[in-house]
Amino acid sequence: MTVLHLVPSAYLRQTRRRLSREGQPAMAATINGLAAQILRSHLISYTENRLLEEVAVWQSVQDLREGLQFFAPIAEFSGFTQELRWLFSCLDYGEDIYARMPQPGREELEGLYNRYHEILSENGVLSVPGQIKRVLDIVRQEQVLPEVQVIRLVGLGELRPLENQFVQALARGRRLEEVQPRVQDPVVEVIKAPDPAAEVELIAEALRRDLEQGASVETLAVAFPNPGQYLPLIIPVFERLKISWQAPGTTLRNTPLGKVVLTLIAGGLAGWDKRSLELLTAPGWGFPFGLSSEEHRMLRLAPPLKGLPAWRSWLGQAAGWQRVLALIEPLRAELTDRPLAEYGFWLESLLEELDPEGWVSPQDNLEHWAELVKAWDAMQGAAQTLQCFQWVIGPAKFLKLLEGLLTSFVIRPRRVFAERVQVLSTDQLGAHIYDRLYAGGIVEGQFPPQGRAHWLTRMRAEAQRDELYARVVSSAHHVCLYYPEVDREGKLNLPATVLGVKKDNEKKPAAPAPIHQPSLFIQGGTLNDPELLAKLREKVLKKGLSVSQLNTYASCPFRFFCSYVLELEVLEEESLELGAGEHGTIVHEVLRTFWERHLTGTLPTVEESQILIEELLAEAYLERGCQPPADLTRALRSFIRQDVQRAEGGFRPAHLEREFDNVAVSSKAGSVLLKGRIDRIDWHPDGVYVLYDYKTGRAPTRSALLDGGDLQIASYLLAAQTLLPEGRSVGAAYYLVRSGARAGVFHESYSPHLKVQRRTGVLAEEEFAEQQDKFAQILSDKVNSILEGSFPVEPASSDTCSFCPFQGICRKEVGTRGF
Ligand code: SF4
Repeated sequence: MTVLHLVPSAYLRQTRRRLSREGQPAMAATINGLAAQILRSHLISYTENRLLEEVAVWQSVQDLREGLQFFAPIAEFSGFTQELRWLFSCLDYGEDIYARMPQPGREELEGLYNRYHEILSENGVLSVPGQIKRVLDIVRQEQVLPEVQVIRLVGLGELRPLENQFVQALARGRRLEEVQPRVQDPVVEVIKAPDPAAEVELIAEALRRDLEQGASVETLAVAFPNPGQYLPLIIPVFERLKISWQAPGTTLRNTPLGKVVLTLIAGGLAGWDKRSLELLTAPGWGFPFGLSSEEHRMLRLAPPLKGLPAWRSWLGQAAGWQRVLALIEPLRAELTDRPLAEYGFWLESLLEELDPEGWVSPQDNLEHWAELVKAWDAMQGAAQTLQCFQWVIGPAKFLKLLEGLLTSFVIRPRRVFAERVQVLSTDQLGAHIYDRLYAGGIVEGQFPPQGRAHWLTRMRAEAQRDELYARVVSSAHHVCLYYPEVDREGKLNLPATVLGVKKDNEKKPAAPAPIHQPSLFIQGGTLNDPELLAKLREKVLKKGLSVSQLNTYASCPFRFFCSYVLELEVLEEESLELGAGEHGTIVHEVLRTFWERHLTGTLPTVEESQILIEELLAEAYLERGCQPPADLTRALRSFIRQDVQRAEGGFRPAHLEREFDNVAVSSKAGSVLLKGRIDRIDWHPDGVYVLYDYKTGRAPTRSALLDGGDLQIASYLLAAQTLLPEGRSVGAAYYLVRSGARAGVFHESYSPHLKVQRRTGVLAEEEFAEQQDKFAQILSDKVNSILEGSFPVEPASSDTCSFCPFQGICRKEVGTRGF
């Protein structure tokens, strides 16, 4: 007795292997594969072309556009053609979509559908449902595959009307069986993972263990509600643990070639900005243009230019960029309203320029090269398909059409003879029994996957939660269901409610072994562990503290705890632009160079100073590959004008970036050495001086400066006593580069020379001396608090939190000021 097994395509290979092992007279096929096989055996020739089917949908709208009324307002949107594609597929498979549409829409849909089929037949294309329909006529008239006595449907679930008709006609005079393989008493474990990355790690480790214990690859499977979302995590982890697995196919749009062709058109339409060039050439994302790291850097450091002439003058000296720009430059002229066929010819000529061998050699990376060639062949097919259509299309619409076209074409993964662990969608389970199944991502909202609502018919694939859960857990003898507690953005996940029934089985992660480390969550803001406190004291007394560390403590003790005690490193955000810190460094450099040239001699005039400062600024930015921001240039011109005019009052820069590391701050445990650097010290011929710290941002408030919320000025005044005992300090301040203002304390008797007004911190002789004593006491108190382990979450102001990297740790809410 010969049995024909009809199975989903994901299981065809396994089913054939199993049947051949069992040695039964049996056959296995998919419904589509069987239809194609019958057509071939009846010598019926036809063309299959998914790309042309896609363009035919667009052309049906194009041809009937003038007559559309119901669909007229939406006919120009690419989303409309996507919906039509889905509706045509439903109609092809015999689903009654018309009944869901209002009467006028029904008639127009019918017209579009008929036109679509005319276009397919004009081009000799038979879609998959078209093939099944043709075969249906044959099997109704004659019995095909006479040797088959039983037709067994394995794990196919509910068939669509056309498939059902085909199967019923095929089964006439034979036995028809439906089989849903199910394990009766599977072992089910529910396992919680901290996040998706840890979840994939757990799954991969479990697979690795199974393989090392001798499990056969084909008895193992991995499933996710949406495997595509997990691919970026799976690829590196499975590679590291050497798990050979079968990756799902990818769309032509998602290949480097697909991305680059679309970016070339989008960039050409938008007039080429920095972002489009970055996308075009990003290593690992787009086409391998073979740019050197120095050439990539040139783009990264470039200012935000617009248009190809500007880019040519910025990048055109580099050989790699010359090749890329030569490829891009002729494109603009091609992007005009023109027949689709011409776009097809243009795409073909563009592909000649993007020939993989011109940019990457098979000797360098055979696998990469082979993938490019595969995508190149598929793109060539797309170009040739476009050449069949003569209707005129604008470049923006062509971009949309091409996006749809490339999305509809799936490039299959490499074929390999060795068995590989299958990675499937949970929807695909149910046609095969595995020994072990690892199903991840079982969280509410993802499991079951939500079907997209179709806006023309308001239909949505109904999620059969319990049925899907039953199918998943009966697909293997041992099923491990994983859920990550948070998603990839750190938002909290809820385990899918279906997992609740299995809560008793939840595997509790083993309690972490105790380790003697400071915890993030210190009780009441105080570090009490004597051993840790002793280590902290030793470190402070031995290495001292920098002014910036002390200032961090003053701004928020918990922030200091995170950076100094826990030594948490802040991950720098990768940015192609200069960061605020780099702008600040440049300003410091420029002012230092300016005053290095004028420490002695005649003071420059304001005009000379402004010219020089502008030159120095331009040079400093050019060294970093960009131009100075216009507002900063204006600010520095104004700053240097005020600064030079003030120097005429008698206080002249004498020390620049003066470092110190031996300033003692008294504490209960002994002296703690303070280290730091003073940006500038201005001397007066009377033997007095003022200390400045340049600041490109805002200054702290006056109360923070005087009462210990900010310790920079206090530290400088203390340091100066050790550094310059021969003189006397009569002021210390932040010098604000953007406004020229100074925020600090000044001795009254020198305020006229310094050109400061009373409201800006001028203190009488006694007040000044008292403030200096107060600063010394504040510094000592802060050092004592550190040594006592006092680290409460107490920011000096809500501004402190705005730029703090530890917001996520201390959970202090920010941005609520004013509520
Ligand atoms: S966010 Fe605010 S409270 Fe939290 S550590 Fe940073 S500065 Fe302190």
